[in-house]
Amino acid sequence: MAPQNTASAAIDWEQIDHVLVDMDGTVLDLAFDNHFWRELVPRHYGALHALAPEQAWERLLPHFRDLQGKLEWYCMDHWSELTGLNLAALTLQSRERIAPLPGSDAFLRAVRASGRGLWLVTNAHRDSWQPKLAHTGYGVHFDHILCSHDFGAPKEDPRFWPALRQRHFFDPRRAIFIDDSLPVLRAARDFGFAHVIAIRHPDTSQPVRVVDDFEAVDRLADLLPIT
Ligand SMILES: [Mg+2]
Repeated sequence: MAPQNTASAAIDWEQIDHVLVDMDGTVLDLAFDNHFWRELVPRHYGALHALAPEQAWERLLPHFRDLQGKLEWYCMDHWSELTGLNLAALTLQSRERIAPLPGSDAFLRAVRASGRGLWLVTNAHRDSWQPKLAHTGYGVHFDHILCSHDFGAPKEDPRFWPALRQRHFFDPRRAIFIDDSLPVLRAARDFGFAHVIAIRHPDTSQPVRVVDDFEAVDRLADLLPIT
């Protein structure tokens, strides 16, 4: 079945000055992160502490659950300390698996060509976003690369967007925000973006998700053409 292209039909590009996009699961394939956190980290953590991978995962899971939605959840320093692993080094070692989602490049180029502002807004820690953008070469697409660690709150926190906008002015009523995280999208909707769009297929190793609460597309390229 062809993907339903509900969002593009609803966007009046004439009314949009800024396009703000998430990184993992929106521009880049979340398959890397799922592999990294669910397989590589438990495997290395298990090897370090003499645990089977399943035992290692069971020991790590409560920590993941506790911190979900908090800035520490996205903090590589925190996880390196907790696990005893050098996660920045592990990210670099596994960088061959970092990949864009299909069609991301075409979408980002089209936004740039249209003259609109294009900002990357991520919860990823610098030890994660820097090697990812270096490996893909995608840093060049963006006017700004904005990381929630520099604003004191993650994107799902109501304090995030006002803090960002104080330093980087834009009019949310003339802006689009695209992300794969529903809590993040809710906070953006509450902040007053003209369009808040969900990505249905953030991880190519998983099936497409059903998203009910938001305008949604399978991938960024489904929002083309930009007029
Ligand atoms: Mg994401």
